[in-house]
Amino acid sequence: MTSLDALVPYEEALARIVAAAEELRDSRTPATRQVGLWDASGYVLAEDVVADRDQPPFARSAMDGYAVRSVDVMGPEVRLRVVGEVAAGQTASAPLGPGEAIAIMTGAPVPEGADAVQMVEKTRRDGEHVIVAGPLKSGHNIAPQGEDARAGAVVVERGRVIESLTAGVLGSVGAGHVTVYQRPRATVMTTGDELVGLEEVPGPGQIRDSNRRTLMALLEREWCRVVDGGIVADDLAETRRAIREGLEGDVLVLSGGVSAGVYDLVRQALEDEGVEILFHKVRIKPGKPLLFGRHPGGLVFGLPGNPVSTFVTGLMLMAPALRILGHRPEHRTWYVRVPLEGTLPATAGRTSFHPAHIVLGDHDRMAVRYCPWHGSADQYSFARANALIRREPGEPAATDGDLVRVAIPHPLASW
Ligand code: AMP
Ligand code: MG
Repeated sequence: MTSLDALVPYEEALARIVAAAEELRDSRTPATRQVGLWDASGYVLAEDVVADRDQPPFARSAMDGYAVRSVDVMGPEVRLRVVGEVAAGQTASAPLGPGEAIAIMTGAPVPEGADAVQMVEKTRRDGEHVIVAGPLKSGHNIAPQGEDARAGAVVVERGRVIESLTAGVLGSVGAGHVTVYQRPRATVMTTGDELVGLEEVPGPGQIRDSNRRTLMALLEREWCRVVDGGIVADDLAETRRAIREGLEGDVLVLSGGVSAGVYDLVRQALEDEGVEILFHKVRIKPGKPLLFGRHPGGLVFGLPGNPVSTFVTGLMLMAPALRILGHRPEHRTWYVRVPLEGTLPATAGRTSFHPAHIVLGDHDRMAVRYCPWHGSADQYSFARANALIRREPGEPAATDGDLVRVAIPHPLASW
């Protein structure tokens, strides 16, 4: 038995994948590109973006009402002469003098001479005049120039994902084009003589190649540019040729052919093509055989062929590496402890991920329900789940109300 045949605990396997991905990311100049802000949603910003001018750019009224001099409004009620109006987008035509008021709308620049705004609800118009409730302090209902951000201050940091409000903030400071990180390039290929394309009619003994679809969708969700490497026959020469092409991207993902069968040729083919294998077996269920390797240009995942194993190892071990290579702000899986509804069997020797349903009960109380399934080929039960319950080796059975650990692989990273 070589060290590659040792069963690596889940956390150790994950740590080794994370370390290799970070090393690869940090060893090269990050690939970036310019995108127009209208096309930038979902990208990670590769530069700090600064305010092009003070925000707000002028002292701004926070209310609809009347701009006044606070020294004129010392008493409980003051009568002032209305000398003009300033709406949002306008500027006052003349400065405000003693005893005067200017009608002002939210967002309009405060006229010169004024230092407070009384909201319209606390005023009463009387022809040319307005009766204003006081007293008012200087600065009342005025947002000072530069209160939110000073010109030159960073408003969105490098590494943030451009989403709704972040995109709006970039727009507010005139960032019409931004520098973003390129999406990592991943090639997916599936191995197996039994596989036919999704559009084909399977013959005797054949099945449809569902894993390629699963993995491509998973990789797209992790912000990769995905190259479809097709189906590879269980033949060493053909597997080697396909791998050689697949190694051109940042990540090569293979499904199947990593167990101990006579036709499981992926490891041999990868070694023949110069890929350094870092481990081949992980102490998890589903998904024990999982091959992780690297070469100077990228990482390689050989995922087990059973559809559920492919999915769980893809989500819990491969996806973090892609988030790292994509410079995404969070690569970790988050966990929460949630009360169980129903029961869970005891766990044997491997870290286990059970399909589960998170439900929201009365009074916003979360609960999690185990979804029964019958093995790594049962993608039908598993696909109905919306969460994974994680259990450690040797954990006893759990029953109603016990807190169990639920994995959240996609924590909120930004707006
Ligand atoms: P393997 O890891 O190649 O031994 O495959 C394990 C099991 O997963 C076998 O029953 C395969 O038929 C099935 N399988 C392998 N590849 C795929 C695939 N691409 N789509 C669906 N099932 C697959
Ligand atoms: Mg196979």
